[in-house]
Amino acid sequence: MRRSMNLRVPGPTPLPRAVCKAMARPMIGHRSSEFRDLMAEIQPCLRAVFGVGEDVIVLTASGTGGLEAAVVNTLSPGDEVVAVSVGVFGRRFAAVAAAFGARVTLVEFPPGQRADARTVGAALAAAPGAKALLLTHSETSTGVANDVPAIVRMARQVSPDILVLVDGVSSVGAMPLEADAWGCDVVVAASQKALMGPPGLALISLSRRGLAAVEQARMPRFYWDLREARRWATRGETPFTPAIGAIRGLHAGLRMLIEEGLDAAFARHRELARMARQGLARLGFRPVAAEECASPSVTAAWVPEGVSADLLIRVLDERYDVVLATGHEPDRTIRLAHMGWVHEVDIREALAAVESALADVRG
Ligand SMILES: *Cc1c(COP(=O)(O)O)cnc(C)c1O
Repeated sequence: MRRSMNLRVPGPTPLPRAVCKAMARPMIGHRSSEFRDLMAEIQPCLRAVFGVGEDVIVLTASGTGGLEAAVVNTLSPGDEVVAVSVGVFGRRFAAVAAAFGARVTLVEFPPGQRADARTVGAALAAAPGAKALLLTHSETSTGVANDVPAIVRMARQVSPDILVLVDGVSSVGAMPLEADAWGCDVVVAASQKALMGPPGLALISLSRRGLAAVEQARMPRFYWDLREARRWATRGETPFTPAIGAIRGLHAGLRMLIEEGLDAAFARHRELARMARQGLARLGFRPVAAEECASPSVTAAWVPEGVSADLLIRVLDERYDVVLATGHEPDRTIRLAHMGWVHEVDIREALAAVESALADVRG
């Protein structure tokens, strides 16, 4: 049993005590007024973090389930799709679309760089029949944040009616997102990243254009059918048994986020990201993301020459109770997350442990 743990992987993220307490309460039924009240209370918080006027759909799933729901509810087999990728999660979104029969054009950018809006515009111009554009807001594998509003503006200049589907799994709650104002038709988030909840819930917003696409889509769907989810949501319920404990945890986490204030939370994330990036650089690591596009959620970095990232991560875990993740380049990169319930002391402690562990592995 560990004394304590500094969980610095990019999801799941640490849980505030209030979240743990909310999850430990006796179970309730999902056709009860208590459950309907819970669902009603989380909606204003969700609308605020997504920047939408309409209710957000709550699915019992991991973030990838949310990406699949976004795809199968808006597209039809054979649809042409342009998928923008700056890393692992961009490629995953594209792979989901391809798995259900979309014809995907992948527009890839090198690790550490964000997507260039003009390049995306050119790709769309070359694909005049494209039905949808797939984007990642914060690419968790490299710690890169994309300029979503700039890309969407460019996309709509080229292709005014294109559907914009956004993977916001590691951005929602950590950085500003205005889905309505930016013109994002579908945004996917998950409970276990910046929203301070446990794993288990995918959250999806739909614009009016997104809703129209849901009515027309012909990809197979049953569990993910958002028409059913929306029908049940009008009475505050879900079609199937939801992860009630996770919803209670998310509710508590969202309340803390709203109490802190979204702008304050975003500023905290930016500051922690700056600390992590500078601290790692001072220890000889090279951040993967270019400075201007560093994600506020997670920092990926190349380990100093001659150091094994895998060994460093193992030593950090076993001797220092600091848990980092590997990065996009096996044994050469690490990732240190700073999203959700994270404070300066956590990052300072993690950096001090990295310094000690570096000395250990160098002998
Ligand atoms: C974590 C994450 C996902 C989804 O991961 P799950 O393990 O399915 O919850 C998708 N996209 C991004 C950007 C992520 O950070």
